[in-house]
Formats: sequence, structure tokens, C-alpha cells
Amino acid sequence: MSRITFIPSAPGRWPEIAPEQWQDWTWQLKNRVSSLADLEKHLKLAPEERAGALLTGSKLATAITPHYFNLIDAEDPGCPIRRQVVPRLEESSYAPEEMSDPCGEDGAMPVPGLVHRYPDRVLFLVTDRCASYCRYCTRSRVVSGVGEQDLETDFEEAYRYLEAHEEVRDVLLSGGDPLLFSDRKLEGILRRLRSIPHIEFIRIGSRVPIFLPQRITPEFCAMIRKYHPVWMSIHCNHPRELTLEVKEALGRLADAGIPLGNQAVLLRGVNNHPDVLKELFHKLLMCRVRPYYLYQCDLIQGSAHLRTTIQEGLEIMDKLRGHTTGYAIPQYVVDGPGGGGKIPLNPDYIVARTGDRLVLRNYRGDIYEYPEASPQGVEGLGIKES
Ligand SMILES: *Cc1c(COP(=O)(O)O)cnc(C)c1O
Ligand code: SF4
Repeated sequence: MSRITFIPSAPGRWPEIAPEQWQDWTWQLKNRVSSLADLEKHLKLAPEERAGALLTGSKLATAITPHYFNLIDAEDPGCPIRRQVVPRLEESSYAPEEMSDPCGEDGAMPVPGLVHRYPDRVLFLVTDRCASYCRYCTRSRVVSGVGEQDLETDFEEAYRYLEAHEEVRDVLLSGGDPLLFSDRKLEGILRRLRSIPHIEFIRIGSRVPIFLPQRITPEFCAMIRKYHPVWMSIHCNHPRELTLEVKEALGRLADAGIPLGNQAVLLRGVNNHPDVLKELFHKLLMCRVRPYYLYQCDLIQGSAHLRTTIQEGLEIMDKLRGHTTGYAIPQYVVDGPGGGGKIPLNPDYIVARTGDRLVLRNYRGDIYEYPEASPQGVEGLGIKES
């Protein structure tokens, strides 16, 4: 018997709200928990959280949809949902190795809002707003609109750049969260991108299915499917985030033919345990979502209390790889600090290289030798030397 369960979030702390209203994503956005008074109405705050709530406004706003807020444990400041969205005093201490732009994105923008780091693909930052704000957000310098830096995306210049750059075949829409746009506005972007013949692949990076599953309406799904292939990368960090409502929203996306991947962030006190991640990845498979990346938390300012070491991440990956379905295993990656792009991190399965032999270990630690025979000719593949 499966122990995987999907628990509804509604109505929770909003028993008086009619189901139609709860289902309305604009109601969810208007009623986000965002002030100290809102937080204290429902949660017993730790002193570090009270101080954290008073700090914000300076860097990253606080906002939590009622849907997501219902998943928070009222008594426990260590609650893994709570640690992701309730600010803490620790956010105000910056370690020397931390940066405001840890992935060096600002230096890789040929056009404001368009990050072109890799040869064939771009990251298109279309908005600075999200449904809720993650305290470890790598883009907190521009996200939420309260920091000193603004996201100044120039859409027309970005489209002209993409038209002129035929090597770009893959566009990743992100922000902020593109799903905060109306269907009409998002459709305008998709239509414009689809008018550029060399753009083959469009992806949307969004945490809305987790924070605001009500946004995934049948109308939205019907709009997206006109622009296929459109893939979506969601962002889910803990199995409790996969509520019944979220599972249904993900089902609507999958039914609309949108291949779904998940990008999780490894976070201290949230998901830095193999059992938690295994349950998360198994639940994602049940929702037809393929775990894609597990990110080492970026060196964003004020995130030390949420970061683990890479060594710990490698040990966790070692306890997953081979111990469960291959589809349940994401690639563990770190963004090279300052702008190196994604770098894969893998536990070491090659134990030694001796002459023409590789010494390998499997997931149980058993040793195997692989003879590296010299390769035969390549004529059979029809490859000509130039
Ligand atoms: C992550 C990222 C991409 C997409 O990378 P994939 O490995 O293809 O998912 C593209 N551009 C930038 C700047 C990125 O950070
Ligand atoms: S949803 Fe993404 S962009 Fe928005 S705050 Fe969270 S990590 Fe940052």
C-alpha cells in the first residue's frame, strides 16, 4: 500500500471564505499574508521572526498566499514551509562570500532583462513579481519591487535581439513569476516568440503551481497548448507543498501536454535529509513531474541560515542514486559563484583509473572494473575526417 498522501490546504485558517472565492486566484493574491500583524494573527512567532518581519521592506517583501500559508505549522518556527517564506533576523547578516547577484546575471545581459550566458539559450526575466516570496531567492535584488534595484526589462529590444540572434533556439521565461501575468499578457509574449522561426523550445519557470494552484485554470491550459512545445519547470522543495489542489493543478498542466520538470533548492532545515527529498521526488512522479535539478543554494546575501555545504548535498545524493527510480533523481548543480553557469555535482562513482581500467563502485559500494578497450574505427558511423 502506498503511504503517499495528498492533503488539501483549504479552507484551513479561512473557514468563512466561500469555495468559489478560495478558487479565485485574484482573491488569493489580494489576501496574501504580508505584515507582522497578519503573521501574528495565526502564528506564534519566534523573536527572530518578529525581528525579521520588521526588517523587510528593505530587501525582499513578505507575501504568502492563503493557500500556502495554510501549510505552515502555527507553533513550530522550524516548520519547513515556514522557513521558506517567513522572514528571519538572520536575513540581515551578510557573510563576506555572499553577493547580491550571486549568478552574475547583471553582467550577462545584452538587453535589460535578457540573460544570455549559454550559446543556444536565454533566460528572459519578464516580471519582478511572484505569488509569494522565497527568503533565499537568488534574484532578490530585483524581485518583489522593494529593493534598491529595479528589473527594467525592455521587451521590444529583447524581441529584436532574439530575432537577430539565430543561435538562440531555447527561451526560458522567468522572473519573478511569469504566471502572475494575465493569460492575455502571457499569450502576447508566447505569440511574439513563436513568430521567431529559430526559437524551437519555450520553457516557463514558475512557482505558481505550488503557491497559487488556483491560477492553473482550464482557460490558461487551453491558451498554452496553442504554442507547443511549451515545457514548464516548477519549483517545489518539500513533500508537504504537494497538496491535493497542487496535484490537480499539475494534472491539468500535464493533460494539456506540458512536460513538467521540478527545480528544487537544497535548504537547511527544509529538505536537507534524504528521506524528505525521496518523499518529495516520489510525490512529484505521482504528479507527473520529473525532478530536473536540485540546486545548491546560491550565495545570496542573508541566506547562510538556509544553506548546507556541498559535501552534505553530495552525501544526500549518494543516498538517493540507485536506491530509487532513476526518474526520481534530479541532477544536483551549483551555479558557479559570480557567473559560471550551472556546474553538475555528482558523488564519485569512479574510484580509480589504472592504466586501461576504470574502477567503479555501484550504489551499494560494490566494486566493478571496466576495461577501457581501445575504440574501433569510426567508418561505420559515416563520420569523415576533415
Ligand atoms: C539555468 C539557466 C538556463 C537554462 O539552463 P538549462 O540547463 O538548459 O536548464 C539558461 N540561462 C541561464 C542564464 C540560466 O541560469
Ligand atoms: S518564486 Fe522564484 S523568483 Fe519568486 S521569490 Fe521564489 S525563488 Fe524568487
